[in-house]
Amino acid sequence: MANTVRLAGIRIVTTEERKRLLKDLLEKKKSGGLKTKDRLAIPPQPMPEQDPAARRGNVHEVARGYTPEQARLEAMRCLQCKNTPCIEGCPVRIRIRDFVGAIAEGNYAEALRIIKENSLLPAVCGRVCPQEVQCQEKCTVGLSLKDVSKAVSIGRLERFVADRASEVCGEGILPLRDEGAPPSQPSAARRQDAGETQGRDGLATGTVPEVAPPTGMKVAIIGSGPGGIVAAADTRRAGHEVTVFEAFHKPGGVMVYGIPEFRLPKAIVQKEIETLTKMGVRIVTNFIVGRTRTIEQLMKEDGYDAVYIGVGAGLPSFMDIEGESLVGVYSANEYLTRANLMKAYEFGAGADTPIARSRRVAVVGGGNVAMDSARTAVRLGAEKVYLIYRRTEQEMPARVEEVHHAKQEGVEFHLLQSPKRIIGDDKGLVTAVECLRYELGEPDASGRRRPVAIPGSEFQIEVDTVIIAIGNLANPLIRQTTPGLEFNKWGNIVVDENCRTSMEGVYAGGDIVLGAATVILAMGQGRIAAAAINDYLAKKNEGRSR
Ligand code: FAD
Repeated sequence: MANTVRLAGIRIVTTEERKRLLKDLLEKKKSGGLKTKDRLAIPPQPMPEQDPAARRGNVHEVARGYTPEQARLEAMRCLQCKNTPCIEGCPVRIRIRDFVGAIAEGNYAEALRIIKENSLLPAVCGRVCPQEVQCQEKCTVGLSLKDVSKAVSIGRLERFVADRASEVCGEGILPLRDEGAPPSQPSAARRQDAGETQGRDGLATGTVPEVAPPTGMKVAIIGSGPGGIVAAADTRRAGHEVTVFEAFHKPGGVMVYGIPEFRLPKAIVQKEIETLTKMGVRIVTNFIVGRTRTIEQLMKEDGYDAVYIGVGAGLPSFMDIEGESLVGVYSANEYLTRANLMKAYEFGAGADTPIARSRRVAVVGGGNVAMDSARTAVRLGAEKVYLIYRRTEQEMPARVEEVHHAKQEGVEFHLLQSPKRIIGDDKGLVTAVECLRYELGEPDASGRRRPVAIPGSEFQIEVDTVIIAIGNLANPLIRQTTPGLEFNKWGNIVVDENCRTSMEGVYAGGDIVLGAATVILAMGQGRIAAAAINDYLAKKNEGRSR
């Protein structure tokens, strides 16, 4: 039965049983009798999920989120280590032990306040951060149980509190304090720092952060991905006039055009964008910096005092093999943009963008982008979806959870294989992909074992669609139109530790600096850049008023 867990021989299936266990544990804790061994014996709480067969036919979120009982039980598994190894694993150094402790107490408002000290997008990060190779990899519980999958589910807990404070999940505003939570409350001043005010029924809800009085300085943010959103929020908070320029017709970056709805509901990103707008940030879409206006024009003619470049890494890589220009070959970027941003799954029922109605799909690659493409193809009705990857599952960069979900949904994994050419018919339509088999050799520069092709091992798989998901590079547009800006050999912008570029007043962060990376790293750089921009503009203002 789904969600059935065992503790010391007791089957725990229902909410009532979880409540009873929680009550017992809380009583034990109150009496000072809750020991490490008791915490380690609490069963890891499984994430409630949509049934795999049902979700093949819809785009709704797969993971449904913890119930309060699950969240508190999961939080009680935390050993509250003095040396907090989990924080070492967090790229933005969230005070994990403390927020998890607050959840265990049932004080979700305090947990959210702690998370928001370091992360502006907890509902996003709780869902998409690769916690299993960051905070959770270092968790003492996972290490003690010799299984990283049994570490405290920090990401799920982060998502839980973020969703409690949000109306986007259709549940209305949920209490941010649970029954039995002790009366400790953060002061009003601390709440305001975290951008919270008292909401309905005296409950704290996430609202609009305060903005300092106008400074008369103008900041341009180029790109509205996670880095751009954080940089816009933090520079606006300092009182600057902030405009976000976005090439697409909708803001949100990869969170909107790349990561599918079934992993990250778009309403969550939309809410963050609305918060920016409420703070007074101007968002200009369909504006391609480098085409509509150059950075030089923005600064010299349009009066922007500082610029943050957060344009991501949106240029798909191809394999450079025969047949890649046949009809039916997509880059993952195009496939996912059609499906997610343009809602091609509703083509003919409200959406204008078509997408191939494929029967047999080959997805090439082993990262999150490949998993997202394969799982999207399943939802678009493909009968067979093959994931072709030239190493083994162990070397796959995709999150373990995504691999697990893809398999549950029927994606067939073809490991140690890679396309040699794509074959088409006389109309130029894809009919098959010819692959070579591989074996693993010595480790390469990435530390992973190098895939070595086995000569003469060619074989064909009949397909009508091929999606190439082997990586993304920086789009060269900014480079071509911004003389004086320094780039490295891969086309990424060179910055110092404060995200300052080679041009005065110009800062950069996220994938355009790091190469294709992660949401949390982009956010972290957006925050560093915003702090540096605020310093730079404060000095510039002083200079002006002297
Ligand atoms: P991006 O999110 O890349 O956004 C950049 C924005 O800039 C875009 O909206 C683009 O349209 C705009 N832009 C580009 N050029 C211009 C221009 N010239 N003028 C104006 N605007 C411009 N990370 C995770 O942590 N977990 C995951 O599970 C995960 N899954 C992923 C799945 C997919 C399919 C993809 C593609 C990426 C995934 N990532 C994941 C990576 C993560 O999304 C990125 O690292 C992150 O979004 C980078 O943020 P960013 O701020 O640099 O910009």
